[in-house]
Amino acid sequence: MKTGLIFDLKRFAIHDGPGIRSTVFFKGCPLRCWWCHNPEGIGNGVPKSDSADIQADTCRLEKVGRIYSIDQLMVEIEKDVIFFDDSGGGVTFSGGEPLYQAEFLKLALQRCREIEIHTALDTSGFASAETIQGLSEFVDLFLFDLKLINNERHLLYTGVSNQQILKNLRWLAKKGKRLNIRFPVIPGITDTKENIKDLKQLLKELENVNHISLLPFHNIAAGKYERFGMENKFGGEKSLSEDQVLPLKAELESLDKTVTIGG
Ligand code: SF4
Repeated sequence: MKTGLIFDLKRFAIHDGPGIRSTVFFKGCPLRCWWCHNPEGIGNGVPKSDSADIQADTCRLEKVGRIYSIDQLMVEIEKDVIFFDDSGGGVTFSGGEPLYQAEFLKLALQRCREIEIHTALDTSGFASAETIQGLSEFVDLFLFDLKLINNERHLLYTGVSNQQILKNLRWLAKKGKRLNIRFPVIPGITDTKENIKDLKQLLKELENVNHISLLPFHNIAAGKYERFGMENKFGGEKSLSEDQVLPLKAELESLDKTVTIGG
């Protein structure tokens, strides 16, 4: 595919990997996490015309986003090369789920590699082994979201099985790929004793994985759910403060890993 559907492009991002970054949000995601912060990026509805503005002022989800050719996207990315170079930053591909548009993602990764722009891939890991392995050599850093280790609970709260996700994670770790784990701390769902125990067990196995980012639940997307008329299964939950996740941070640090709060 020579074009990609992008629903946002954020410049000067500082929480999506090292340094100053541009974050490119790919539209479309096969998961349906109850706590999703970017519900407008889940569906893969295509705007009727490729001149539709990013985050169009509309209540119709299918009009959110814009179709980019690879050249158009690279023009946007290359605008900030000087800031990437000065800060040790680069570009982060996020979403939605970027692997949902794997062909276009691979093209973008290759183009960035050609001009030595650092790349990070923020992913749920939900893709075939062939897909993720086929583009892994062009990714400098994986920001790999781990949510629930128990498969039934993963299925319940995200709509998909985690079996292939865990296989992909183990493969990347075994190959020595640079990996940061991002763990959303969702009250009563991901922060249960059982899930934390399973998470710790998995992290012990993944010797190459040394950095975990805890992402405390924030109820910041409530307005978006309302605006787009989407069901917000987690709407009544209050945001977590950094202080509330400090005990979990200490618990994971006892595994001799670096643990940070936030992106
Ligand atoms: S994987 Fe990310 S984008 Fe997809 S539904 Fe879950 S939180 Fe939203």
